[in-house]
Formats: sequence, C-alpha cells, structure tokens
Amino acid sequence: MEKYYTKVFTSAPETSVDDLSPKSSERKDKRKSPPVLDTDIDDLPSDPGERKDIMDYPANQRDEVRRRYLTKDPCQPYGHNFKQISKESGTRRFNRAWFDQYGSWLEYSISKESAFCLYCYLFKDEVRMQGGSDAFMKEGFNNWKKPERLLTHMDKPPSSCHIIAAQKCEDLMNQHQSILHALFKQDDKAENEYHIRLNASIDASRFLLRQGLPFRGHGEKEADANKGNFLELLKYTGKHNEAISKVILKNAPGNNQMISSKIQKDIVYSFAEEVRQAILEEIDHGVFGLLVDESADVSHKEQMGVVFRFVDKSGAIKERFIEVVHVKETSSIILKYAIDELFAR
Ligand SMILES: [Zn+2]
Repeated sequence: MEKYYTKVFTSAPETSVDDLSPKSSERKDKRKSPPVLDTDIDDLPSDPGERKDIMDYPANQRDEVRRRYLTKDPCQPYGHNFKQISKESGTRRFNRAWFDQYGSWLEYSISKESAFCLYCYLFKDEVRMQGGSDAFMKEGFNNWKKPERLLTHMDKPPSSCHIIAAQKCEDLMNQHQSILHALFKQDDKAENEYHIRLNASIDASRFLLRQGLPFRGHGEKEADANKGNFLELLKYTGKHNEAISKVILKNAPGNNQMISSKIQKDIVYSFAEEVRQAILEEIDHGVFGLLVDESADVSHKEQMGVVFRFVDKSGAIKERFIEVVHVKETSSIILKYAIDELFAR
C-alpha cells in the first residue's frame, strides 16, 4: 500500500525510512552480506607474513576478522618456487605435499618463506594463555630439516594450544552459521506468513466491496456469534484453506493479524484509489460533466456526492460515482472548495 502514501522521513537522511524498510529481497541481501566494520577488514592481507597481529584489531572486530579468514581459502601457494635453505646437513625446502597432508591450518608466506598456522594466528591470545610458542604465528617456521615439527604442532595431546585454537575456530563458525541460518529461516517464514495473511484480508475486502456489503458487525468479540462480514468471511476462507487457516486470526501474532479497522480502511482506500485511476483512464483526458449533490446523513453530517458524466471511447455515455465528501456547510463557496480539493488530489 506504500504507493498511495508519501513516505515520511522521521530521522536523519542517512537512516531514512527507505533504509529501514527496503523491499524484502533487498532486505534479505543486505543481511546476508557480512557487516562492513572497517576498511582494514575489507582488505585483509593474504600472505600470513604480512598480516597484522590479530590482537591489534579492536576487540569488537576480531571475530569478524577471524570469520573472514576462515571463510576464504588458506594461503597455500602450490605453484610457488619454495626457497631452499642451506644448513650443515644439506639443502632443504618446503614440500607442497604438506598442504594436503596437514590441511587448511597450514599456510605459507611467500614474503617470509616460512610456514604459519592459521588457527594459532587467529586465536593467538588463547595460544599464549596456554603457553604456546610464536613459531607458527609470528616469525613463521622454516626449519625444513625437522618437518616432524609440523606433525607435533598439529597432533599433540588434546590440551595442545593448536587443538584448542582449532576448536575455537570451529565453534566460531558454527555459532555464526547457526545464528544467521536461524535468523534467515525465521525471517523467510514470517514474511511468507505475512503475505498469506495480508492477501486473505485483501481478498475478503475485495469481495465485500464488490457486493457492496458492510465490513463491521455490531460486536466483534470472541463471544459474539456474528462478528461482522469481514471477520466471518476471513473465518470462512480459513475453513476452506488450511494454509491460510494456519496463519490468520487466532494463529497470527497478536500485533500482526491484519484485521483491525485501520487495516480494513487502508485496504478499502487502496481499492478506491485503483478504481478512481481506472475511471480517469476511461475518461482519457476527454470532456466530462460534474454532477454534485449534497444531503445530510442520519447524524446530520453534510455530505456531498460527486459523479463524473462523460462519453467513453466507444461513444457510450457513462456516469461514474467518484466519492462522498464531507462538508462543513452547503454554501456554494464551501462546495466549490471541496470540489477543488478533490480535483487537486
Ligand atoms: Zn596451530
């Protein structure tokens, strides 16, 4: 119904109403992209030898940095010409097969020609707390003469710093995914139910308007046998359609039932606007006459009925009732003012 109303900006332009209530698809996309916290985070260096110390990021950004490193591929440059290091015992170099052997924690820095551990880098604070060394985090490891150090780094008893860091990484990703997943799932479900509920109210309104029937009843409480055409028709629709029945009336959230008198009026005004638009298209910028009559209703409120009379494209004379306008009095100046206002709208 938004198209019938001008949006009101209630806050600063940066957080406009548009931002707060974009179309559902846009809203979904926005949430699915990770929050941008800092330009540093958008430009995280791949080479482990060039990374900033994880503890140098603000505490509230560290988890986001960790997630980003964990969601992208580890730095494993298979095609790199690994630098040979000469020792007394001979010349050794990094073996690219170790990437496959040890998995995604093992990274290689081209700038430092050394091996690093991604997990230990990300949870450096934990590793330090457990008394772990900086070998795979800060300087990097390049003692290729002792490749068994890679295995011992990874495979020490369960209390090892590396295993704790690996567990932390797994927990972080699980926590992130499960929360996001639950949010999206919940959000999609609620949105779908809302659409079904709104459409049920619109369909009931369409039927009542077409038949010229009143919407409300004398009593709409739970105990009332007849709650008026609108509610009874909704109930009837629910009885014949299980999918609708599950999300309307008692099965809808108390603050989102789409049945209040205000909602009913909104729907009716929207229909009225569509009908007026159709009449204007029928007139098609042609000549028309105006029939205006006023009379007081039972509560002595003066009302003015406005009818357009025109010749349509096929040459037929048509009369179309446009609106009932309430007027304070019936002097010609007030009626003219009311008509001007109607046309202005
Ligand atoms: Zn490690």
